[in-house]
Amino acid sequence: MTTTSFEQLPLSPAALANLAQLGYTAMTPIQAASLPLALAGHDLIAQAQTGSGKTAAFALSLLARLDTRRFAVQALVLCPTRELAEQVAQEIRRLARAEDNVKVLVLCGGAPIKPQADSLAHGAHVVVGTPGRLLDHLDRQTLELGALNTLVLDEADRMLDMGFMEDITAIASRAPKARQTLLFSATYPEGIQQLAKKFLREPKEVTLTQRPAGTQIRQRFYEVTESQRLHAVGLLLNHFRPVSTLAFCNTKQQCRDLVDVLQAQGISALALHGDLEQRDRDQVLIRFAHRSCSVLVATDVAARGLDIDQLEAVINVDITPDVEVHTHRIGRTGRGEETGWAFSLASLDEMGRVGRIDEMQGTASAWHALSELTPADTRPLRPPMVTLQILGGRKEKIRPGDVLGALTKDAGLPGAQIGKINVNEFSTYVAVARELAPQALAALGDRPVKGKRVKARLME
Ligand code: AMP
Repeated sequence: MTTTSFEQLPLSPAALANLAQLGYTAMTPIQAASLPLALAGHDLIAQAQTGSGKTAAFALSLLARLDTRRFAVQALVLCPTRELAEQVAQEIRRLARAEDNVKVLVLCGGAPIKPQADSLAHGAHVVVGTPGRLLDHLDRQTLELGALNTLVLDEADRMLDMGFMEDITAIASRAPKARQTLLFSATYPEGIQQLAKKFLREPKEVTLTQRPAGTQIRQRFYEVTESQRLHAVGLLLNHFRPVSTLAFCNTKQQCRDLVDVLQAQGISALALHGDLEQRDRDQVLIRFAHRSCSVLVATDVAARGLDIDQLEAVINVDITPDVEVHTHRIGRTGRGEETGWAFSLASLDEMGRVGRIDEMQGTASAWHALSELTPADTRPLRPPMVTLQILGGRKEKIRPGDVLGALTKDAGLPGAQIGKINVNEFSTYVAVARELAPQALAALGDRPVKGKRVKARLME
């Protein structure tokens, strides 16, 4: 047994078997450092980035002390954004498969409050949500924290950035004093110390700033004039041909302009910015996660809390004035064992910013010429998958297995060609290999899903 084996932790045999089934063969550094302490009941301040495995670090701990026979909220996870809350809930559900019927509920703003209250009334063991909406439920007394064992503050620094200090304080003051509190944060500004002093009892500190071994980000800088900048993004994409790219712009207008330029070149790109309605935002993120859209163009604010795995490249369309933001942007690629590209386009006016980045990173930037960027293929970059939207979701009691069954068992499509399936309240989204799109659409049109005829359409 290695020092990073999960087997040395006081976890149930069922939990260990589930981890093995999920392919979690060894603990990540943050898990190895924090799980023994968290499982022993200590409060924690853990410094960890997204992608480090931090969710499992707190999820395994809160699940270990859950009593599923007791229908009361025993663990509460506070997250800065809805996307993060959804991702955290998914990971908790995955890790909870070992237990019978662990009910995990997401409570965030942007969704109607009444159905959430109804779900709470049916009983939940774990609640994951954003501070504003959680407080709302506490005020309405639809959420009760009397049985709470574990309080988790995830991405605490971002929650403070977003002005949630007061809400967090109000929520924590309504939780029982005898509880475990786990605080996770990527950075460690002054406000985090204050939070820790207020809510944690003799916390143990876990600091791990280095990225997991094997991770590699290859950074390249290209000098551009303003008139070359947006065009250069297309050159990069057609040369390196990454399947999924996150492109950062400093302004919303720049995001819109870039999407127009890329779409005109036949590259599938979608913008993510604060002006989108929640439903449109969800659809953009689903398509990107499905690998049915090549480029997600975002401002830093819009990309907050996003956790995207399998990101081959990050492009800094503009150089950010904030060195920490730069580090955060490029840290989204090269996760786990993968190697990622980080490209930055800099005009003469931005050289001062690049200089500060060099200083912080302790290395000189690697400069390359735009003229190197010859297309690797004559065809434009196409995403490998397409997303089909089925008009029917949780309301119709559709589950991912129903959709998978309709496509593979009933219609005989190969399972390996079907990708992620997301079931939302009113819609279901399924990723299928691009070449199978017509057959998959026909199959869904012909056969009932969950005993009902459904309408499906291609999202392009
Ligand atoms: P997180 O930092 O919590 O967002 O986790 C990043 C990704 O790593 C998630 O997709 C997890 O499912 C995955 N992960 C977490 N822990 C492990 C592990 N010990 N082995 C393999 N994958 C893991």
